[in-house]
Amino acid sequence: MRSLFIGAPGEVVLREVEKPSPKKGEILIEMRSCGVCGTDLEKIRGEAATPPVLGHEVVGEVAELGRGVRGIQTGDRVFTHHHAPCYECELCRRGEYTMCAEFPRHNINPGGFSEYYVVPAWNVSRGAVLPLPDSVSFEEGSFIEPLGCCIRGLSKVNAMNFMSAIIYGAGPVGLTHLMLLQHYGYTNVAVGDLSEYRLSFASRLGAKIFRPGGAGQKQKNAGSALDGVAPELAIVATGSPAALIDAMKTVSPGGRVLLFGAPPRGSTVSLDLSRYFLRGIAVQASYSTSEKETTLAVRMLESGAIDLTKLITHRFRLEEAPQAFRVAGEQKCIKAVVNG
Ligand SMILES: [Zn+2]
Ligand SMILES: [Zn+2]
Repeated sequence: MRSLFIGAPGEVVLREVEKPSPKKGEILIEMRSCGVCGTDLEKIRGEAATPPVLGHEVVGEVAELGRGVRGIQTGDRVFTHHHAPCYECELCRRGEYTMCAEFPRHNINPGGFSEYYVVPAWNVSRGAVLPLPDSVSFEEGSFIEPLGCCIRGLSKVNAMNFMSAIIYGAGPVGLTHLMLLQHYGYTNVAVGDLSEYRLSFASRLGAKIFRPGGAGQKQKNAGSALDGVAPELAIVATGSPAALIDAMKTVSPGGRVLLFGAPPRGSTVSLDLSRYFLRGIAVQASYSTSEKETTLAVRMLESGAIDLTKLITHRFRLEEAPQAFRVAGEQKCIKAVVNG
């Protein structure tokens, strides 16, 4: 079978590998849809702080069960979370599932951009496989993982308590945050990006727009993006350290900054701590998602509360996956999905 791997720096290669067979407690999945995530692009550039497996926004059909698997049938349409916590350690007891030391240690094999992949027994036994409702298509299902990440981030900053927000980054997760905030009742949201293509996409989704790092002739900067209202919430949906600093300067006193995009390894910022202190803002980082949020994400997609397929601008077959990565790395793409 074919599977996608990290090749030379900045490149991916499709390789012919042996089709895995599920051992005790494992399940084999036939991939049906897998989204290209910004972290996949960082991985192939060697910048990522996360494990080097490609493809985690993935759904498929159960092809084969290992010995002893209960409650899952061959042919089931499922979302398979690539990581799972232990649910027993001190961090898990506090609900910090994505901080659990076990969480990133368990992964699908060989990855989501594969004809077939195995879900480890650890994940299967810890509820990381969720059934896809009939009304949720495979393409929609490929958004469960990133949507779960956004739900987790927004709950960490108590987004329900606020009404105005700015978002740095009009990529797929920036725009997923936008659509979630709109679903939560926000009407005053601005999105910033350096790409005109992405800004006009955000604008069509109902966002005000701005250009981070200074206004152009026609465009606003972050501070004036909400027409004089200082945003209560700022979401940094990019790994750019400059965006984080801009967000901290722009958010209203007492406001919240959500650090959502993974900064490249070794990123540092220089910060006037006295100003930060006096403005009383809170910076909250959020990494990944647990089943608490992926379960909510499934329900949200099933109810039709949010239609993330609007974000798909490019579709590819598995054999075209290298092209999917090239396109996703350019600025004229929002979401690229690979369908099996
Ligand atoms: Zn992702
Ligand atoms: Zn744990």
